[in-house]
Amino acid sequence: MTVWDDLVGQDRVREQLAAAARDADALVTAVSDGKPLDQGSKMTHAWLFTGPPGSGRSTAARAFAAALQCTSPDRALGGAPGCGFCDGCHTSLVGTHADVEVIRTDLLSIGVKETRDLVRRAQLSPAVGRWQVIVMEDADRLTEGAGNVLLKAVEEPAPRTVWMLCAPSLEDVLPTIRSRCRHLTLSTPPVEAVADVLIRRDGVDPERAHNAARATQGHIGRARRLATDERARARRAAVLKVPLRVADVGGCLKAAQELIDTATDDAKQLAEEVDAKETEDLKAALGGVAGGRMPRGTAGAMKELEDKQKRRKTRTQRDSLDLALTELTGFYRDVLALQLGSRLAIANVDVRDSLDRIAESSTPAQTLRRIESVIACREAMDRNVAPLLAVEAMTMALRAG
Ligand SMILES: [Zn+2]
Repeated sequence: MTVWDDLVGQDRVREQLAAAARDADALVTAVSDGKPLDQGSKMTHAWLFTGPPGSGRSTAARAFAAALQCTSPDRALGGAPGCGFCDGCHTSLVGTHADVEVIRTDLLSIGVKETRDLVRRAQLSPAVGRWQVIVMEDADRLTEGAGNVLLKAVEEPAPRTVWMLCAPSLEDVLPTIRSRCRHLTLSTPPVEAVADVLIRRDGVDPERAHNAARATQGHIGRARRLATDERARARRAAVLKVPLRVADVGGCLKAAQELIDTATDDAKQLAEEVDAKETEDLKAALGGVAGGRMPRGTAGAMKELEDKQKRRKTRTQRDSLDLALTELTGFYRDVLALQLGSRLAIANVDVRDSLDRIAESSTPAQTLRRIESVIACREAMDRNVAPLLAVEAMTMALRAG
């Protein structure tokens, strides 16, 4: 076992990171021995990981962070850092290393204030480890103001600080920032590799693992959820029935309402899990008594938390809808493949009967228009069209074809 084990189907990225980790290790050793630095070092202070959702951007960043913190005595004897066993590796991977901070947001954007706080923390020397590592999972969500704050930190990093930014594509990151980062691209891992991980690491039975990997087209996180979570399977089954339910206007409106309700339920469930505790924690921190009146001057902080919780709810609902739209697109892509007699592998083999029915009762031109209407729905929501309206417009367009 090594720190790279969860990085599926990304051999080239893995090699580059392993080489950088080796050089980083040599760098720390050289500095502490008072030796001059190697100018050809593959180590650098700012990294940008891009790749499609599910390709393992943050997994790659985390593995790299662990390799940088590796303290295994073997690495001095020609072994590579990133043993996966030592305290540095282990605590980095499970998220308890004092010098590895992972920034994950459940909001739609990352603002100036939190970025400033982060940059301040990043200036510190490592507390116990060899490097101070900050992994930002959603660098594409930085506001422009926040991006400019971050830019200064990336331009002039503290000697032992490493930034690892993750985003879907280069275009999602401010040009000024990305030009200062070493860029690594992850690709969608092959279906076989994903199935293999589900079998090997999660103990999923082979048939279910293959179906989940195929249905999610190499998205590891979604494949894992589908293979291990009954609720996720029920959700997907409901979404893939939508194409059969849009035969009349009533069916269209009902299907749209159900898609929205499901997304709202997801948001509500998450809110119930975290909001109440978060609110109580803040009240306690501000000196309030449970159930009692809050001290003067704390209303602003409470309001700020309420706003944050509201934004998180919107984001969760949106993510849930996005997933449904992705599944619908996959369904029609399969329909098109059948209609064109393409040799493209069918993703949704488990609903082959529905695929055949829709493929036989429509033309490829209709299928293309249906795919376009799913894309149009996502674009409408990006423009802040009310989700129910956008989804209704989509189901109506699916009916017309
Ligand atoms: Zn190690």
